[in-house]
Amino acid sequence: VINQLKMEFQSLPANVAFARVAVAAFASQLDFTLNDLEELKVAVSEAVANAIVHGYGSSPSAMVRLSATLTEQGIEIRVEDSGRGIADVRKAMEPAFSTDPERMGLGFVFMQSFMDRVQVDSSPGKGTRVTMFK
Ligand code: ATP
Ligand code: MG
Repeated sequence: VINQLKMEFQSLPANVAFARVAVAAFASQLDFTLNDLEELKVAVSEAVANAIVHGYGSSPSAMVRLSATLTEQGIEIRVEDSGRGIADVRKAMEPAFSTDPERMGLGFVFMQSFMDRVQVDSSPGKGTRVTMFK
């Protein structure tokens, strides 16, 4: 391990942009290309937005946890909420699947296409953890 970041922020939409910039700044300690950093930012945005929108719904006092670990191999990012959880993770990750008819259902698709590995651990009523590596 080269360096580690741990942070916690309130479940507010404004923190999506904060998290993506913070992680990109941290990740730039490794020699990622600008394109890689842009892809990281999209993946982080999607995971954090999901925690805020789906995990917590409208409870802004709830906290989203984010950690990032830099190694010689790359960056591992974890985004965690203690919110609603996902009953069927496989289904939730299908392209265009959304529980909200107003949404595109593409968040997990972006995470999977822009990161090398994406793992989702979730239990209904307990919360969701998304672990991604690039
Ligand atoms: P988009 O990301 O395109 O705005 P979306 O958020 O619905 O739409 P995904 O990000 O792919 O699409 O997520 C798919 C579904 O998985 C969501 O509709 C939601 O039901 C569920 N989900 C994702 N993340 C969480 C979470 N942290 N907590 C609870 N449910 C989640
Ligand atoms: Mg989403």
